[in-house]
Amino acid sequence: MIKAIVSGASGRMGKRIISMINETEGIELSAAFERSDHPDIGKDAGIVAGIGKIGVEIMSSIEDVIDKGDVLIDFTVPEATYENLKHAVKKGIAMVIGTTGFSKDLLEEVKDMAKKIRCVMAPNMSIGVNVMFKIASELTRILGDEYDVEIIELHHRFKKDAPSGTASRIAQIISEVKGINLDESGVYGRKGITGERKKDEIGIHAVRAGDIVGEHIVIFGGIGERIELIHRAQSRDNFARGAVKAAMWIVNQPPGLYDMQDVLGLR
Ligand code: NAP
Repeated sequence: MIKAIVSGASGRMGKRIISMINETEGIELSAAFERSDHPDIGKDAGIVAGIGKIGVEIMSSIEDVIDKGDVLIDFTVPEATYENLKHAVKKGIAMVIGTTGFSKDLLEEVKDMAKKIRCVMAPNMSIGVNVMFKIASELTRILGDEYDVEIIELHHRFKKDAPSGTASRIAQIISEVKGINLDESGVYGRKGITGERKKDEIGIHAVRAGDIVGEHIVIFGGIGERIELIHRAQSRDNFARGAVKAAMWIVNQPPGLYDMQDVLGLR
């Protein structure tokens, strides 16, 4: 039985992951924790997640729980994930990182550290989105430079970072296929007299409204036609299912940094 520790246990994703672990055979929730001054500290993680009492109390720090599991699942905020990763490296336990919104420098540091343990890190753990990554890459290769690429992402009003990690990843994949530098080609929103669109631009636009779980649209715009790839997440369960799948997969892998393309065998 794989023992999982969940960080950010009271968060939108933390609660769904706890619920998904509860209904998955072969994995159990061994511990859960939250930010040290969170009002849910001391409560039963199952009750907070809305699935009833499971006998796992939400603790106030990673030190209280790090010895209790094989794998740590972390969907929190970049600074917390970074601190939690340091503990995972010290103890040598596996980790699944779903957190997004890292600065470029912090992301590099996190990736370097994560290679020392068994770690899956992906801005989007849903199967559909990971298939979309692959198709976006293929379409870019087939359509070439004559088709303009614009990415639109839509999320709920509570999301703290923009653009979404998924939109950034799509832009990164497309720029790699095109052989261009995203730092120079990424255009994040437009306003004013912008001039004509340059050939190499990749437009990335963030919409925030209501309770949208997550939507990504990639437009390949040619003259007289366009292709649109659309992925709509209808609930957070697809991310939670992917995170639990990643947790069960990573514990049996050699040390290294992996992503969902590895977990799903899409590479
Ligand atoms: P959320 O509802 O704000 O949940 C984050 C939770 O982490 C909150 O309960 C927060 O507590 C807690 N937290 C903050 N600092 C902590 C610490 N030091 N130790 C333990 N817990 C801490 O956000 P969410 O919607 O669940 O999203 C979380 C992250 O996952 C975001 O970066 C989001 O973009 C990402 N995400 C990834 C995927 C994917 O598939 N990879 C899917 C969905 C979301 P407070 O609220 O009290 O600060």
